[in-house]
Amino acid sequence: MARRRWIADTWDEATASISGDQAAHLIRVLRAQAGMEFDIVAGGQVWHGVIAGITGDAVRFNLVAEVEADPALPVTLLLSVFKFDRMEWAIEKATELGAERIVPVIARRSEKHLAQAAASRAERWRRVAMEASKQARRSDVPRVDDPLPLRTAIREEGEYVRLVLAEQERSTTLRSALAEALAAAGDDAPTIRIAVGPEGGWTGEEEAMFDAESWKAVSLGPRILRVETAAITAMAVAAALLE
Ligand code: SAM
Repeated sequence: MARRRWIADTWDEATASISGDQAAHLIRVLRAQAGMEFDIVAGGQVWHGVIAGITGDAVRFNLVAEVEADPALPVTLLLSVFKFDRMEWAIEKATELGAERIVPVIARRSEKHLAQAAASRAERWRRVAMEASKQARRSDVPRVDDPLPLRTAIREEGEYVRLVLAEQERSTTLRSALAEALAAAGDDAPTIRIAVGPEGGWTGEEEAMFDAESWKAVSLGPRILRVETAAITAMAVAAALLE
């Protein structure tokens, strides 16, 4: 049977510890005892861990062997802030599908009150990503950034393939753009960023900004998808091509 998985808060080459909610659950609900065995995610790797000790509200494990695990997809999702319940759902599913990083972005048409409240939601989004990582048996937890203005997020420097989902795009599909990027990268895996617009879509000014920053508009087909559907579909298309 698969071992239950915990995400280490601190670790070194031989031991790891968890604290907070994870440790409270392990100690009180699962009645942690020395010698119990689990999988421990630490530093992007998964370890077979054995409880070495319980002190107060923390559990310490000896890391006895590395467990083979799949890396995240090299995909960063720029997710425009939208209704929080559906946004959480999108973060959960993008994590299950392997996103490496999620950047909540404030777009022009992100609802004002949601844009204002977004900064205080970031911790909760990180917890959603952590729980989804455990459930999906990932070897890492995607980084979830503090919300950024769209302009800042799309100007971040680095070598990556820049793709913006645009429902009015007719000629280039996400699939074809990714296939082209893969072919161009040869033996190296390309790093990809995909931007998803808010419920009202991108403004003309934002489209021009994407264009000026060399982001390519791509389509997910002729139907207009809700934001969360677009985000999940994009991750699924990327997973199908990159894995
Ligand atoms: N402007 C639209 C409207 O109100 O008619 C809808 C925007 S859509 C709900 C939200 C976002 O999902 C878009 O900005 C885009 O990033 C993405 N999206 C939805 N359907 C898409 C499609 N068929 N192709 C590419 N992106 C899509």
